[in-house]
Amino acid sequence: MYTFGPINSRRFGLSLGIDLSPNIKSCNYDCVYCELEGAKPTNIIPNPPLVEDIIKDLKDSLNLHPEVEVITITSNGEPTLYKDLKLLVSELNKIKEDKKILILSNGSNVSDALLDIDIVKLSLDCATKKCFKKIDRPLKNLDLENIISNMISFSQKFKNTLVIEVLLVEGVNDKEDEIKKIDKLLHDIKPHRVDLGTIDRPPAYQVRAVTQERLFELSKLFIDLPISIIHKNPPKIKEKFSKEEILTVLSRRPQSQFDIDSFFSKSSKDYLDELIDEGRVEKVNIAGTIFFKKLSS
Ligand code: SF4
Repeated sequence: MYTFGPINSRRFGLSLGIDLSPNIKSCNYDCVYCELEGAKPTNIIPNPPLVEDIIKDLKDSLNLHPEVEVITITSNGEPTLYKDLKLLVSELNKIKEDKKILILSNGSNVSDALLDIDIVKLSLDCATKKCFKKIDRPLKNLDLENIISNMISFSQKFKNTLVIEVLLVEGVNDKEDEIKKIDKLLHDIKPHRVDLGTIDRPPAYQVRAVTQERLFELSKLFIDLPISIIHKNPPKIKEKFSKEEILTVLSRRPQSQFDIDSFFSKSSKDYLDELIDEGRVEKVNIAGTIFFKKLSS
């Protein structure tokens, strides 16, 4: 079987996954935080599945689970290493009906093969080469500057939804200086949504997550970007905001439904509802995540 699921993803909705490297981890990174075992980076998927076999599997799964919202191209590693990705995407578009196609990529190999995908998720953990080598541990020939300039050119051509994921590792890319540089790059790339997270599963190497409180604090360094904080264990103490404080928070950047649920106290949520009723805040859906945005007065 090349498909798995459905899986209910908070970030993208009810999803059926396609695994392009079902037999062995095949990735051109060896990230310290990877939930798979550490492995030497490679740019080859050995014995990749045939497009026709994937499509046959997927049709069977869709018959069993017609309610899924998203078909996710992923792999035991990096799905863009799959040589027939363009053909696969074209075949998926023929059968997807009302579903969206999503790819979860590390962002190292962005190409025109991704242009016809509905939602492209790329990762960007670092703005500097030193950090990139420490966290993502890429194949030797991969250059961060090229990767970033490819992301910028892709974003200019891409007509669908671009999501960038930033994963913070304690003591490595959680310093304000690195984050401000990532923020600047994100403004150049111009994604529709940024998912900010930390380690939440046993990592391949000895590294630690940043705390949820720190994640929330660091999220404030991203200015005017639709950041969605990914968190499994929201902090117990919630923030009590006044209406004006909520407007100030939202004017710095839109807040996702997850952030509101995790960080806003009951009274803050009530104020937010009032601001929506008064037409000062609006709700928008970006790639399956609800965001709250301040409307200009
Ligand atoms: S890019 Fe993804 S699959 Fe590859 S090593 Fe990093 S976390 Fe693991």
